[in-house]
Amino acid sequence: RLLLSLSCNQRWQNYLASVPAVWYMSRRFIAGETTEEAIKTARLLNELGIMASLHYLGEEAAEGTEARASRDAYIAALDAIASERVESNISIRLTQLGLGLDDALCYENAESIVEHAAALGNVVYIDAEGSMHYQAALDLYRRLRERHDNVGMTVQAQLFRSQSDVETLIKEGVAHLRLCKGIYPESPSVAYPAGEIVREKLLDLVRAMFRPESRQRGVYPAVATHDDLVINWVRRYTYYHRVPADAYEFQMLYGVRRDRQRWLADQGYRLRVYIPYGTNWYPYFMRRLAERPANLLFFIRALAGP
Ligand code: FAD
Repeated sequence: RLLLSLSCNQRWQNYLASVPAVWYMSRRFIAGETTEEAIKTARLLNELGIMASLHYLGEEAAEGTEARASRDAYIAALDAIASERVESNISIRLTQLGLGLDDALCYENAESIVEHAAALGNVVYIDAEGSMHYQAALDLYRRLRERHDNVGMTVQAQLFRSQSDVETLIKEGVAHLRLCKGIYPESPSVAYPAGEIVREKLLDLVRAMFRPESRQRGVYPAVATHDDLVINWVRRYTYYHRVPADAYEFQMLYGVRRDRQRWLADQGYRLRVYIPYGTNWYPYFMRRLAERPANLLFFIRALAGP
């Protein structure tokens, strides 16, 4: 909670982001500040048999020009993916494109990105943000989906509503659906507490996605986790139910459990790694630190210096 609150505090951000040790540590989870660095990282992963999803880092846009700049950065990423021939799609955050500020502008920005991706034969995933933005994000996804096949959504298992959302999305013909536990701290009135129960809920969502009717409808699940219990459950399930290896994929974050990433790819599983990049790396980095108590010690040692 301390790290999550530091992730949104501007004064701490100004201070911590200027500490060289913090920048150095962040490089474990962030590919770099430029599109070139992100492409280079994607290429290195591709060489290991791992696909990528580029994410241009940014938080909620405070004005329209910021939202349009993020749109342009995503379009540049799509162009670089195509020209450099790397195996990668992109993952966008809607608040970065104006959701909550100007929803019409956000739709316009998201649609430009999705149309550009379609012209290049690529896919765009929408990240799931805090529950206060979720309904608006889902509505926007549905509007895009009416006109475009190449857009995917993310669902967080920690939210009470997710089981019913996933059932509805399957009926509506969702194609690309990413399932994750959820990183944002939520009120107990809308979400399960972190821990075993969220893992169980994630498995319930995965089960729904793997049902034969779901697969017949063209659902392509992405199981976004580093949790061995979930990964091994999926491996067993797909083995016993003869789900083909190309009917789903695992997804992981850049820098998290690299050993497991290599292992899954070596075993022939489809694996995509989410690659964040950009100058606004600090909030994302703090969220990654917050996920693992051991990281806090690592962080304090780096701040204390040599
Ligand atoms: P955990 O139980 O948290 O982790 C399992 C194991 O992984 C841990 O025991 C540890 O060994 C390792 N591990 C996990 N995190 C770290 C870390 N930071 N540093 C070191 N080791 C670690 N969340 C959202 O709310 N919205 C999104 O749109 C979203 N998109 C995502 C996209 C992808 C591709 C991935 C992989 C995750 C995404 N997440 C998103 C984050 C997700 O919700 C979880 O917070 C995160 O994946 C940790 O949960 P876990 O399932 O890996 O399980």
